[in-house]
Amino acid sequence: MNSLYEDQDFGISILDTGYLRARLAASYLLVEQGHAAFIDTGTNASVRHLLSVLREKNIAPEQVDYVIVTHVHLDHAGGAGLLMQQCPNAQLVVHPRGAPHMIDPSRLMAGVEAVYGKTQTEALYGQVQPIDGERVIQAGEHFELDFQGRLLLFLDTPGHALHHFCVWDAFSRSLFTGDTFGLSYRHFDSAQGAFIFPTTTPVQFDPGALHASIKRLLELKPQHMFLTHYGKLSGDLAAFAEELHYLIDEFVRLVRLASEHGEQRHAFLTEQMMVLLLARLQAQGCSLSEAECRSYLAMDVELNAQGLEFWWDKTQAIAH
Ligand SMILES: [Zn+2]
Repeated sequence: MNSLYEDQDFGISILDTGYLRARLAASYLLVEQGHAAFIDTGTNASVRHLLSVLREKNIAPEQVDYVIVTHVHLDHAGGAGLLMQQCPNAQLVVHPRGAPHMIDPSRLMAGVEAVYGKTQTEALYGQVQPIDGERVIQAGEHFELDFQGRLLLFLDTPGHALHHFCVWDAFSRSLFTGDTFGLSYRHFDSAQGAFIFPTTTPVQFDPGALHASIKRLLELKPQHMFLTHYGKLSGDLAAFAEELHYLIDEFVRLVRLASEHGEQRHAFLTEQMMVLLLARLQAQGCSLSEAECRSYLAMDVELNAQGLEFWWDKTQAIAH
């Protein structure tokens, strides 16, 4: 395996953006007729790596036609502006709800700073670069993009975020799912296959919408799913979808249960979610130690709990 990237069939390559740890967040490079498109970019710190892969493949930055971001969370889109500066002919393709934040990232950054604080935000993401509105294509439901004769179809897929689309590449019968089809880290692969679980990060998680979006993805009868976190899933994709549906319902059950624990709500929810996921990992034949599993899961469990609690409080406020 080349350390810079993993080539797949159909001119698709998996690039490791290097965000936080190895094989946590991917960027995808599509090559068609000597032209390139990126799907998700990682952060500013990832851009040098993306450009070096282009160089390895003898593709000039001028040959990059599109920078596509599945949604505007910064592990997916934080590097888009900087990458666009290096690729003078590229157009950004983004969900209509995400477009304003790519053109003027100040509100997006303020939101991130509210969660992480200014110092850590700066360390993780640097200065997110604005993108000229004239270079931005807004891709709503059923938008079709002709990438050098290769049709890319965009599906509006709320649930993880309202500014999220998935990209259907008919040629390879593949879906680029961003965060809609959950997380599947290669560290957890076992003889029985891959482990998968949903991502319910704040502030737009919506379980009903996520169930519906996952169903829609399966209706296309894809051969492959390319997850930003991380890499390719093939084989019995319906079984992965079933597991996601099951875990979304379990997460909702847990946050309801946790709401009875007052000040201990967050601690209760994170530990119950961790225990649930560890049990699924064990059933799945994962050979890592519990400590290793906990360490790989810790960040997502924390973010998932925050997103579930945010959703729960919002639903309760509407109900009363
Ligand atoms: Zn996300």
